[in-house]
Amino acid sequence: MALNSSFLDGMVGVGDMILLESLSEKSVLENLKERFKHDEIYTYIGNVVISVNPYKQLSIYTPEKVEEYRNSNLYQLKPHIYAVADGAYQSLRDRDRDQCILITGESGAGKTEASKLVMSYVAAVCGKGAEVNQVKEQLLQSNPVLEAFGNAKTIRNDNSSRFGKYMDIEFDFKGDPVGGVISNYLLEKSRVVKHVKAERNFHIFYQLLAGGGAELLGQLKLSPDCAKYAYLNKDASSLNGMNDNENFKTVKSAMKIIGFSDSEVTSILQIVAVVLKLGNIEIKGQFQANGMASCYIPDLKEIKEISSLIGLDAATLENAFSVRTVEAKQERVVTTLNASQGAYARDALAKNMYDRLFSWLVQRINESIKVSEFQGKKVMGVLDIYGFEILEENSFEQFIINYCNEKLQQIFIQMTLKEEQGEYRREGIEWTQIEFFDNEIICKLIEDNTKGILAILDEECLLPGNVSDATFLTKLGRQLGNHKHFKSKITQNAKNITDVTLPDNSFRIEHYAGQVTYNTNGFLDKNNDLLFRDLSQAMFKAKHELLKSLFPEGDPKNSSLKRPPTVGFQFKGSVSTLMKNLYAKNPNYIRCLKPNGTKKPSLFDDKLMEIQVRYLGLLENVRVRRAGYAYRQEYGSFLNRYKMLSKQTWPMDGVEVMLNDPEVNISSEEVAYGRTKLFIRTPSTLFDLEEKRRQK
Ligand code: ATP
Ligand code: MG
Repeated sequence: MALNSSFLDGMVGVGDMILLESLSEKSVLENLKERFKHDEIYTYIGNVVISVNPYKQLSIYTPEKVEEYRNSNLYQLKPHIYAVADGAYQSLRDRDRDQCILITGESGAGKTEASKLVMSYVAAVCGKGAEVNQVKEQLLQSNPVLEAFGNAKTIRNDNSSRFGKYMDIEFDFKGDPVGGVISNYLLEKSRVVKHVKAERNFHIFYQLLAGGGAELLGQLKLSPDCAKYAYLNKDASSLNGMNDNENFKTVKSAMKIIGFSDSEVTSILQIVAVVLKLGNIEIKGQFQANGMASCYIPDLKEIKEISSLIGLDAATLENAFSVRTVEAKQERVVTTLNASQGAYARDALAKNMYDRLFSWLVQRINESIKVSEFQGKKVMGVLDIYGFEILEENSFEQFIINYCNEKLQQIFIQMTLKEEQGEYRREGIEWTQIEFFDNEIICKLIEDNTKGILAILDEECLLPGNVSDATFLTKLGRQLGNHKHFKSKITQNAKNITDVTLPDNSFRIEHYAGQVTYNTNGFLDKNNDLLFRDLSQAMFKAKHELLKSLFPEGDPKNSSLKRPPTVGFQFKGSVSTLMKNLYAKNPNYIRCLKPNGTKKPSLFDDKLMEIQVRYLGLLENVRVRRAGYAYRQEYGSFLNRYKMLSKQTWPMDGVEVMLNDPEVNISSEEVAYGRTKLFIRTPSTLFDLEEKRRQK
């Protein structure tokens, strides 16, 4: 492999992929591997930083390091996430450009850690003083709270974020933080009631049981033993390297710093306890005298305890699990639920309760950190959102997550190009057209208002009568069977089979990152996300203020026959708002890679890395960056490095004189002189300069 010598002396491989002599997937991978071997986990592609999870603590995040990178130039020091954070912060403070930091990568690749590193770096370098410090603390402390309620152990990551997060940090004209706003995206609420064997439910449940202490647990009518709760994992109750007891203290202290009152904390924990207890309600089936199936709750202990925690009459709660009332225009029909419908109602209530509590928490944190009245604020947005997922079984959740990633890839390409064009324009250099793969076709396949998969799904959900996941799949096949990026067993004329290898009940999308087969079981139900009205009405009757406020539709005054918007529809709307928000800002990219699937330090799994390099589109990224002018540097820095090559440049005659020196011999085709920067077209020209420099 031809790896060019380091651009910075003493560097392993190349610090910027743009400088790779021969560009291929292989050379990109080998460069990352070489650097990873030497604990160089960060590598640039221009102003994009690639980060490979070291799975061990490196001593590169010390206060001394912060000082080193503070006000540095991106190219003066080794690649580091701090350099990107610093560049973004400087540009925001000094040039008034709103920034966004987009962090992508698959589960366990290090996105959340990266977002915290960026936040803590910015907190360390921006203003001081009691008031500013308080704001910083509140912003930073939002992390442990949201992680406790929104993260869980999965097979791939012991601290996996099960929600998407975008946080705007707001600064005043001096560059001091004044507050922020957090947006959350689709929590994986199915985890509340069900998770695979080696995984866990959300951390907060285990933290509360491990750290709550006898008095609090007594008040909440809980036992400290995880094994007693049907919704919890009995085996994986404690995790290596994670102390639930300690973490509970951290979460409580974080809530205090953010500004939660004691009674708010109690209310929150009561709801957490209720969710746990809901899981223990056993529902049994029986037949009524008329032969109709119905259900009953043999042991009312949990029902009574829940009722006393939330201030609700036990019979109302019991009833909500055994009947369903459907109101049409004129009539009101009450049907009895059988055992599995009763259990479905119980789980739906637990999931919804927890999900709504989570969104409420985000809003409550926002109340504390929001900026009251402020003009001329500058904004830095940090996006830490679930990465592209290909699991063995991919369901509605993966479909939504992968759609979001498709949109992020689209904006990545568009913004990289836009940024390139913008820089050329600012520097007064002619723009050369760049060829690239545009994934708009895949985005449209999913989100088109009439013909997209989400639209077809909504149409099916809203149709009265006999609709099911199967009718949805048939419709998809009929309408999209001929789409280049879509496959199902049925095509437009419903006769041809396009892909016999597809399992039943599934369709396949060829995403920019690879093929994913989605199983349609549960698509309609998850998209509808309907909570039986009896349940929301029961919750609204509770005296517990917070709980009651989570179910506003249970208020008879709000009673409406209109269906709430579907999950897909809402998600599409929030992704679209997010995209607009990001598009208005100057992007900074952190692309995280996971070196192995076993969380081991120093293990670089070539195959796994190759797949990620491919689906993050890193090669495409280097190509776009190299297509016009591969390299650019401000005149001063450039001259400093190369002035030794030409006698004439001493002391400082300018870059042009130097490059025209016959001894230096750089073709005029190869360079363009911008307003503040010199642009070099091909990397080999830069290597020439480097080589000459070394020979001096
Ligand atoms: P998910 O999509 O599942 O939320 P993620 O990309 O957010 O995954 P993280 O939770 O940030 O992944 O990282 C997973 C684990 O990897 C961390 O808990 C930590 O142990 C380790 N890790 C990540 N980044 C670093 C780093 N820079 N230094 C040391 N360890 C790291
Ligand atoms: Mg995460």
